[in-house]
Amino acid sequence: MGAIALKAVEKWFGNVQVIKGIDLTIADGEFVVFVGPSGCGKSTLLRMIGGLEDTSRGAIEIDGAEVTDQPPSKRGLAMVFQSYALYPHMSVAENMGFSLKMAGAPAAEWKAKVDDAAAILKLESYLERRPKDLSGGQRQRVAIGRSIVRDPTAFLFDEPLSNLDAALRVEMRLEIARLHRDLKRTMIYVTHDQVEAMTLADRIVVLEYGHVAQVGTPRELYERPANLFVAQFIGSPK
Ligand code: ADP
Ligand code: MG
Repeated sequence: MGAIALKAVEKWFGNVQVIKGIDLTIADGEFVVFVGPSGCGKSTLLRMIGGLEDTSRGAIEIDGAEVTDQPPSKRGLAMVFQSYALYPHMSVAENMGFSLKMAGAPAAEWKAKVDDAAAILKLESYLERRPKDLSGGQRQRVAIGRSIVRDPTAFLFDEPLSNLDAALRVEMRLEIARLHRDLKRTMIYVTHDQVEAMTLADRIVVLEYGHVAQVGTPRELYERPANLFVAQFIGSPK
């Protein structure tokens, strides 16, 4: 579970084509990073995979089943954004368990899942706090915890660390790497930060205004960038 395939996907906003026919296969458990300049279509592509944006043409498959027209709730994926939008009036535990509770899970069940996620994220001693009494890094952990409890087949991250200061970004980057090692789930991670891309990715997809400039391991991209655009983006000496 957790294999994702994009088949000639396109996105048009009116008569502007933002995603220009992308083919990509992501293996179960793979950590794939989308990089590229602002406005190149990273968020749009991620939102299409998550079902928050419809796909104008082409198909999206999860584990071989077409999900192109399925709503987000039927895709089994979890999205984590840079703005974590926690409910201020709920405790950390309630924030993390909310979606399970809404789906009708009994209290004992959602609380057990929240406890498991809290242990993974080292949030055990914060479960009764309100979001306002947490640091930025802790809030981001709660946002990630909220997705872990749903046991998704894949995690979709859209620049989850860009609101954090530099030191915290490093800490959270290591945390996300550890999460991937522990959970062994597919992760698709959007960033414009080359260091995040190079250190987290099994494979990097470099996007250039709606198309794929190159796909490869960090090492392949660094050593053999396909063109100057990739070289400049990855910071390799071509
Ligand atoms: P990135 O995440 O790489 O910065 P986006 O996917 O947000 O890029 O945006 C890609 C392009 O699509 C940009 O030109 C943006 O202005 C445009 N775009 C994004 N969302 C919409 C929308 N809802 N309506 C019209 N244009 C949009
Ligand atoms: Mg974006």
